[in-house]
Amino acid sequence: MLQIQNLHAAYGKVEVLHDISLEVPKGKVVTLIGSNGAGKTTTMRAISGMIKPSGGSIMLNGKAITGLSSNKIARAGLAHSPEGRRVFATLSVTDNLLLGAFPRLTFGRERGDVQGDLARVFELFPRLKERASQQAGTLSGGEQQMLAMGRALMLNPEVLLLDEPSMGLAPLLVNEVFRIIAELKGRGITMLLVEQFAAAALEVADYGYVLENGRIACHGPAQQLKDDPAVKAAYLGAS
Ligand code: ATP
Repeated sequence: MLQIQNLHAAYGKVEVLHDISLEVPKGKVVTLIGSNGAGKTTTMRAISGMIKPSGGSIMLNGKAITGLSSNKIARAGLAHSPEGRRVFATLSVTDNLLLGAFPRLTFGRERGDVQGDLARVFELFPRLKERASQQAGTLSGGEQQMLAMGRALMLNPEVLLLDEPSMGLAPLLVNEVFRIIAELKGRGITMLLVEQFAAAALEVADYGYVLENGRIACHGPAQQLKDDPAVKAAYLGAS
């Protein structure tokens, strides 16, 4: 479904991703774990076209999306819920969500039932429903995070990239985010997940990759990584 081969990416002259290869099979949840600065966010950005890879290939459903604009990649069916609160502050919650459906509407990948999808997102995030007409910039941090996730879902994506969806959330909301990820998994949504709570990410994921200094250090079934003493010591201590 999503296949990445020998991906390289750089900021200016500094290469930060070196020869990354990974796969996210259809209907599976794959997690990328690694220390701060290992290159997780950069990997997500390179896949969704926010930065141009300097080498390698990225295939979505057998079609090359390497080097395309982020808009074209979204139209091809890849949604990215980025790290941090990336919402349109002056627009309402509903308008932010509707904008998430825009790439699929303009290109006609599948128009589908936008109002139905909006209702499903509101069902998943009741807090957003209560605040449907509120300006997004006045939402709390956690609510904005949920809005970013909801907006990505409005694309009806083939693959969903979730970068730190629990960042900055209070513990109860962190649990809520993981409950939602599990629910999306149950609906068969293919996901690549980056999470500070690596143990919880491995719990919901099928497969995991460990990134160290911009390289894949090891990978395996999530349960296996969870039980691996080296992975435990390096990444699972605090979560
Ligand atoms: P974290 O868990 O802290 O978010 P990460 O694994 O997501 O870390 P990245 O954000 O991908 O790591 O960063 C990888 C490397 O690239 C780091 O050394 C970082 O300093 C560098 N980097 C990230 N963004 C930029 C940028 N816009 N310009 C220059 N260097 C950058």
